[in-house]
Amino acid sequence: MGVRPAAFAGVGRLSADFAGGDTRVFPWFGSGRMLGPGGDNGVTPMGGAMDYQALFSEIDRAVEPALSSGQVAQYIPALAKVDPGRFGLALAEVDATTAAQGTGDWLVPFSIQSLSKVFTLALVLAADGDALWARVGREPSGAPFNSLAQLERQHGIPRNPFVNAGALVVTDRLLTLTGDARGALRDFLRDECGNAAVDFDPVVAECESSHGHRNSALAHLLADYGRLDNPVPDVLEHYFWQCSLTMNCRDLALSARFLARHGLRADGTRLLTRSEAKRVNAVMLIGGTYDAAGEFAHRVGLPAKSGVGGGIIAVIPGRSVLCTWGPALDRHGNSTAGIIALDTLTTLTGWSVF
Ligand code: GLN
Repeated sequence: MGVRPAAFAGVGRLSADFAGGDTRVFPWFGSGRMLGPGGDNGVTPMGGAMDYQALFSEIDRAVEPALSSGQVAQYIPALAKVDPGRFGLALAEVDATTAAQGTGDWLVPFSIQSLSKVFTLALVLAADGDALWARVGREPSGAPFNSLAQLERQHGIPRNPFVNAGALVVTDRLLTLTGDARGALRDFLRDECGNAAVDFDPVVAECESSHGHRNSALAHLLADYGRLDNPVPDVLEHYFWQCSLTMNCRDLALSARFLARHGLRADGTRLLTRSEAKRVNAVMLIGGTYDAAGEFAHRVGLPAKSGVGGGIIAVIPGRSVLCTWGPALDRHGNSTAGIIALDTLTTLTGWSVF
């Protein structure tokens, strides 16, 4: 059953129909008994805030048994101390006047790690257009996110901007464009989520730097192939600091909302063209969860980006952005609780891009 999404000015109406949810499991999504005011078809709410609490309760129930499975990232000692039993989820709708909603530990700050890669990519595309794609691919990696062998095989052209090698190239370009890649990223995030307290965690940054032999090797290999414009230590420093940014689910969901708004920022100005926003989402779908991107698409069906701090950002174009946090990771470096939460959400609501 096709359900048209809420019609937010110039945004929702252009997006594709979303299928109805699994009515056997969550009947009020498919039957029209949606909580909140009725939308243009009486099923999806329009304008006013929807009560997501019933959906969040279902997700909390699904996630609970899995909170102890998986392992907190060990290779960055500052992250290894985080309690694996935490879980939070935030949802921010495309209507920039609507506050985000959430459940659990959604307001607890955590290390954003590779979630930062989505934003640096967007900032480089915004400033530089398509030029980046001569230096970075946009294909699934099929290899771990920090693979040296793959970079060597590809002669220094990273498979996509979300594996570490690709992200280092993006940070290098952002550094050239701005003179301060990490500062540009922090300022952008502060603006988008409206929280001036968003900041780096120097302990995490220092810890990554002193344990960052593999990233260092990737950067040197890139430099050997002539793929970096800036000195390796500068690129690495900005990369480690961007990964050390500390944010909560709410602020991350708000900050990524331009991806669901087809490129429009929180203040209504345009960051990316519609095509560029589509492309960032497409690259998230094929590579945002590394060599598990196929399995993630199979289970969740949304463009998404994960980080080893346990965060996942998922985009429902034209509708909303989700951010989950569960620090325990699977063997690919993706949050086990986050995947269950997003799988549950798209299964119950039908809000997938497929
Ligand atoms: N800072 C981490 C690293 O470079 C980010 C990896 C990740 O979140 N997947 O290894």
